[in-house]
Amino acid sequence: MAEFRAQVRGWLRSRLTGRFEPLMGRGGPADEQMWELSLEWERELARGGWTALGWPREFGGRGLGPVEQVTFYEEYALANAPGRVTHLGEMMLGPTLIELGTPEQQRRFLPGIKNATELWCQGYSEPDAGSDLAAVRTRAQLRGDDWVISGTKVWTSLAQHADFCFVLCRTGPFESRHRGLTYLLVPMRQPGVTVRPIRQMTGTREFNEVTFDEAVTPASWRVGAVDGGWPVAMATLGYERSRRLAHFPIMRAELDGVIALARSRGRASDPHIRERIARSYSELLVMRTMNERTLAALAAGRAPGAAASIGKLYWSHWHQRLLDLQADVLGLESQLLAGDPYQVTAAQQALLYSRAETIFAGSSEIQRNIIAERVLGLPKDT
Ligand SMILES: Cc1cc2nc3c(=O)[nH]c(=O)nc-3n(C[C@H](O)[C@H](O)[C@H](O)COP(=O)(O)OP(=O)(O)OC[C@H]3O[C@@H](n4cnc5c(N)ncnc54)[C@H](O)[C@@H]3O)c2cc1C
Repeated sequence: MAEFRAQVRGWLRSRLTGRFEPLMGRGGPADEQMWELSLEWERELARGGWTALGWPREFGGRGLGPVEQVTFYEEYALANAPGRVTHLGEMMLGPTLIELGTPEQQRRFLPGIKNATELWCQGYSEPDAGSDLAAVRTRAQLRGDDWVISGTKVWTSLAQHADFCFVLCRTGPFESRHRGLTYLLVPMRQPGVTVRPIRQMTGTREFNEVTFDEAVTPASWRVGAVDGGWPVAMATLGYERSRRLAHFPIMRAELDGVIALARSRGRASDPHIRERIARSYSELLVMRTMNERTLAALAAGRAPGAAASIGKLYWSHWHQRLLDLQADVLGLESQLLAGDPYQVTAAQQALLYSRAETIFAGSSEIQRNIIAERVLGLPKDT
């Protein structure tokens, strides 16, 4: 493993220079100024063989086990390497297609995801269907060789850059709820698709409202059965909820940053701050153990399923508490904007964005319902 670690470290060190140097510690979906460079970086990673690490080799992945994947992400965080922007394809749709897609879909879409040449967005939420995803109204009808799709999706991250969207559509009567939904792969660059940006409290515009007005997609670009899209959508959500596994080393680096900040600001001897740091560190170790268990299950070919909700619930609240702690260490300085009219600092950006983390990929209340019902077998929420 030491050899693999040295290989990752050497590669990152050699590439994070020159034109990619400004991306260090930056990038990610919310960094609009760095979008083009972030994408170039993704392609550089792909050329180096550092994407699709956990995908099996027969699907073009590296087939790496959990320990190697964790090692890669540790080195990635230590190198202060750029925030990733292709997670919707690589960590959510890719594994779903490997598990449930047809060979034709796998051949058509997996290479573009792995090479970061085709970008994806997720079309689940609607104005009246968020937590209650079975209330989706966006309708799809089969006409000849095509599906024709009409309806509105909302909070669609990165739709402004996406080439395709995986869309949960209503194909049965509305009353059929989750039994009348179909999962379609839809091209975004066509006349029937309109993308309107939504500005967030971070000041950035990472997500959108997307309108489908008789948009079309080939009949064969359906994952799972007609009216059988629900289990496919749930599989994708399982991968989405467990994708933070990759973030553990970043969280470790964030905690180290807060500890260093507390020392430099003379707050490290404040008993209240020390107690919160110690608690944060203990919880981080719990998360590491949970991550390793999930990675081992994934490596053994078991989908994360409902248990991924435990990890999602845990890290999102942990992260909010850590960023609250960082703001308290900074004191009044945490309130000062970096510039006019609304330029937030990196700490403010992280703090504000962390509010979204207990909402996206299913809110905390929904995760608790899933844990209660599907992990613990308690009676259903009515
Ligand atoms: C940054 C960000 C990015 C996102 N990106 C995407 C994306 O790319 N694609 C996409 O499709 N969606 C995306 N979403 C949407 C996200 O999945 C939804 O916001 C989320 O599922 C909650 O749905 P909602 O906003 O409609 O809230 P609602 O469902 O209206 O919920 C409102 C409140 O009621 C609570 N609640 C609802 N039902 C229950 C219940 N049964 N029991 C207890 N409490 C309940 C919720 O927990 C919440 O606190 C994104 C959201 C954010 C914040």
